[in-house]
Amino acid sequence: MKYLAEMTFAEVREMGEDAVVILPVGAIEAHGPHLPLQTDVIIARAMAAAGARALEASGFRDVVIAPPLQWTSAGFAKGFAGTLSLSPATVTAILVDAALSLHRAGFAHIVLANSHLDPAHTASLHEGVRMAREKDGVVVTFPDITRTPWALRLTAEFKSGACHAGQFETSIVMAERPDLVRESIRVTLEPNPASLSQAIRDGKKTFEEAGGPSAYFGFPQGASDAEGRETIATLGAILADALVAARTPGRGE
Ligand SMILES: [Zn+2]
Repeated sequence: MKYLAEMTFAEVREMGEDAVVILPVGAIEAHGPHLPLQTDVIIARAMAAAGARALEASGFRDVVIAPPLQWTSAGFAKGFAGTLSLSPATVTAILVDAALSLHRAGFAHIVLANSHLDPAHTASLHEGVRMAREKDGVVVTFPDITRTPWALRLTAEFKSGACHAGQFETSIVMAERPDLVRESIRVTLEPNPASLSQAIRDGKKTFEEAGGPSAYFGFPQGASDAEGRETIATLGAILADALVAARTPGRGE
């Protein structure tokens, strides 16, 4: 596994015909009083690295991780200080251009490692995937973890929809960047079982409307680095399985 930004042009030029690039996609967005704004970027990078290891184990020789896309649409969190939110149309345009640029750089396969689940954001990615294929003939594999079959492999809290800065995400940050978890605050946070996915279906547009006045949902107190490591491995397996499925004729995107 290599990081594109750390490679030289000559090393990129020497990649094989089956080279894979993974694009981590996150956000700079409020994640409760206990996690950093870049939580989704940390999760996306962890998913990308675990996915790269899984792909290498299944025989891919050149697996490269691109610089993360972290300027995106984050409307649900826009009422909280520090959240950065672009319009969905801008995000789609960036993804289409990024995919074309990665394709021209010589990558045969482009896979998204997305961990930011704001509905406007995921819709903008699906639209970008569609446009890249229609406009430029560039295929991007996007295993959307909010959808089946992928969501079924994740934790009970994730599937309940109470999955923003709760046990699921906090565990991953504890595994990856424990230095960034405000532990003395985390252990005081009351459970918030309100389902964000149900609120989205009910037409709510912000964390406050959805019942998350402190920008977290779920059970931060239940988080552990052990669960985080397990979830990261699952996310990596999802990424690898999605790419293998997409390369098999008649399956995947
Ligand atoms: Zn998140």
